[in-house]
Amino acid sequence: METYQVNNEGYYGTFGGAYIPEILHRCVEELRRAYLQVLDSADFRQEFDTLLRDYVGRPSPLYLAQRLSGRYGCRIYLKREDLNHTGAHKINNAIGQVLLARRMGKRRIIAETGAGQHGVATATVCALMGMECIVYMGKTDVERQHVNVERMKMLGAKVRPVTSGNMTLKDATNEAIRDWCCHPEDTYYVIGSTVGPHPYPDMVARLQSVISREIKQQLMEHEGRDYPDYLVACVGGGSNAAGTIYHYLDDSRVKIVLAEAGGKGVDSGLSAATIQLGRLGIIHGAKTLVMQDEDGQIQEPYSISAGLDYPGIGPMHANLAAKKRAMTYAIDDDEALSAAYRLTRLEGIIPALESAHALGTLEKMRFRPQDIVVLTVSGRGDKDIATYLAHAPQ
Ligand SMILES: *Cc1c(COP(=O)(O)O)cnc(C)c1O
Repeated sequence: METYQVNNEGYYGTFGGAYIPEILHRCVEELRRAYLQVLDSADFRQEFDTLLRDYVGRPSPLYLAQRLSGRYGCRIYLKREDLNHTGAHKINNAIGQVLLARRMGKRRIIAETGAGQHGVATATVCALMGMECIVYMGKTDVERQHVNVERMKMLGAKVRPVTSGNMTLKDATNEAIRDWCCHPEDTYYVIGSTVGPHPYPDMVARLQSVISREIKQQLMEHEGRDYPDYLVACVGGGSNAAGTIYHYLDDSRVKIVLAEAGGKGVDSGLSAATIQLGRLGIIHGAKTLVMQDEDGQIQEPYSISAGLDYPGIGPMHANLAAKKRAMTYAIDDDEALSAAYRLTRLEGIIPALESAHALGTLEKMRFRPQDIVVLTVSGRGDKDIATYLAHAPQ
């Protein structure tokens, strides 16, 4: 049977692999040898599951959204990752990787962050576990995401502003990789999404797969069957989507819908719709779709949502799109804003702007009354209130 999971060489179809400088080979190889063994061990599982339950607050509810369902004429369940500690799904991954780092004997944690959400999640877990934490962040982002910088500092992390390039995520990533090259022995690099060289995409997908493990159980309780007709999630690098679909990847009864950020429109020059606009290239150590110019220079992406403006996409998702296993929609800024207000007024839930892109796809699809749709609300909208108020509907 065809599988959409990673193969032994770290590829999803033609996407993935590990394209890294020679000096990092040992680090990445050490990680590749350790991750499956650790993640599958009883001792890791026990500690991870306990923290997910008692610290994060899992399982997150699967909520039948009655009024939203009424609007679209089907049964829509929301997977409430917004209710997690720190307000999004990213904490699942951060806990898993820091537990792994500890078992590998690493004492120093580094991370890169764009909007600051992954930085906050990593700093949170490092505070919890008493680990040193250094977060690289483009100087432009440090200025734009002031509150998250203050949160990281309060949590005890050192935030290092990066002044090379455009001073955004891609430059912070380069700096984190440079740090790792200089401290290969004692340092663990926490990547925040299903991106980067193998084994990161597979590891992050496994750590987030708790989302679909819970969906299976919860759907069984609600509906008497453990699979939906549709799974819907937004995609930046792809981790909340990977967690949502993980246990259904090879189940052809389940349709997968991915929402990427259209920005001001796919053809406007201000977009982050990597699946539509990207070409095969190398970013962050993986072969995948990349937004790049004629010369292969990475293009600066744009979205109103800081968590979705990544110029690449996880290799798993590039493959799902290439093989047509997933339907993909580019949801533009205005569509996402309307979707956020709609959910807020129909259900009393203010979603993260990222998650609002997933909600935006509902307007573009047609459902049958008996269809069961599970949509992941990846995070809460508190961090986006200023943007929402600046774009309030008339
Ligand atoms: C970071 C973030 C995303 C995008 O990241 P993925 O790895 O694609 O999930 C989506 N939603 C929220 C709330 C985020 O913080």
